[in-house]
Amino acid sequence: MIAISGLNGKTIAVFGLGKSGMATLEALRASGATVLTGDDHAKVDIAITDLTKADWSKIDSLILSPGIPHTYPAPHPVAALAKKHGVEIVGDVEYLFRNVSGPAFIGVTGTNGKSTTTALIAHILTTAKRKNEVGGNLGIPVLSFNPLGKDGTYVIEMSSFQCELTPSAAFDVVVWLNITPDHIDRHGDLAGYVAAKKKLLRKTDKKQVLVIGVDDAHSAAVADEMEQAGEWRIIRISSQQMLENGISAINGVLYHNGKALFSIAKAATLPGVHNGQNAAAALAATNALGIDIGTIDKAMHSYAGLPHRQQLIRTIDGVRFINDSKATNADATSKALACYEKIYWIVGGKAKDGGLDGLEEYMPRIKHAFLIGEAADEFANWLNGKAPFSISKTMDVAVRNAAAIAAKDTGAVMLLSPACASYDQFKNYEQRGDVFAMLVNVI
Ligand code: ADP
Repeated sequence: MIAISGLNGKTIAVFGLGKSGMATLEALRASGATVLTGDDHAKVDIAITDLTKADWSKIDSLILSPGIPHTYPAPHPVAALAKKHGVEIVGDVEYLFRNVSGPAFIGVTGTNGKSTTTALIAHILTTAKRKNEVGGNLGIPVLSFNPLGKDGTYVIEMSSFQCELTPSAAFDVVVWLNITPDHIDRHGDLAGYVAAKKKLLRKTDKKQVLVIGVDDAHSAAVADEMEQAGEWRIIRISSQQMLENGISAINGVLYHNGKALFSIAKAATLPGVHNGQNAAAALAATNALGIDIGTIDKAMHSYAGLPHRQQLIRTIDGVRFINDSKATNADATSKALACYEKIYWIVGGKAKDGGLDGLEEYMPRIKHAFLIGEAADEFANWLNGKAPFSISKTMDVAVRNAAAIAAKDTGAVMLLSPACASYDQFKNYEQRGDVFAMLVNVI
């Protein structure tokens, strides 16, 4: 746990008692502060204050869970009260920066690939025998990190919401992967979303390293702007073009300034062009901290991957069974479909706006689609004439039917990549992926 100092006699409100809120509470309790906790839907076994009725003139700081709006679409009433009384609104990562100096900090942000890149960076550090702790948006609350000394590194996945709530963020390396419109309801517009992420880019005493994916126009513009400002060391990365100056991942090979470094074509947990971007970013970030290319190469080949992201569950008679439950929209699913040639595809759930639009080019790869969940009829209409399909409705039927048809089609994959939210049939995407894996394991 991180030791928090300087709060004796202060009153801190913590609103949102999920995993990070509870870890914050624990760290604050040890600090001597008076802590008020609040949550609209608390299922926790602790005393809760109705923060809308609290005396805000006595509160020094509001630590807000990043999932709770404080600007758009409208501030939560608790955030509105904090603003009215001039109380700062920050997140738990802010308290990490206020209380820890010494270790290196790597922050990872972007629309897609954050978790993969964060976990990969931590794995490279571990392979290089560098002490590290990894978390933030990835799952482990930062205030429950173990203390590290000067030789340690904290690797933190930062959502755009967390970026906004961390005014003291002083990362040694910021990894900025990509920008596509996302969470616009919370940031007002795309400019607001980009501005939130830009809060991580700080002029610090050490020149901050900015590893930036330049494959989309918004991120490329940020790289140019920061370069002109002259206060950052910019490392551009791309998985689409060979950069004369930067790190590229082209056809499974990583390059530095156009010179080949090593191939990741056989790194089973980093398939596809999208993972080329993640690998290029992780290489740039860890090399900037002095880790040699040989160690990075070795680490990329021993990286275990994260569950639910094109995770290989089992291979039977040359047919691979892959869990990509994290693909909750068509764009994420397109990354997986692009990786395989013969696909038995389990798809469906609670459809997103646009449904399967954008996936047309991959339909020749679909040997058969098995439709589940609320979206089954809508997706059946969309698939009509594009690829063979049947309506399975539930995961158990889909897995059983798909396994029967795919059996012995050597080289094929049976892929759960739903392009949908999971809430119609499952608690979350993790549970959906776990059910798929369980069913596959008993085939
Ligand atoms: P995040 O934490 O940003 O949501 P993840 O690493 O969990 O990202 O990946 C989620 C999904 O996004 C993956 O299953 C994959 O389909 C897609 N994805 C991963 N990396 C990238 C990338 N660099 N660019 C575009 N899409 C990606």
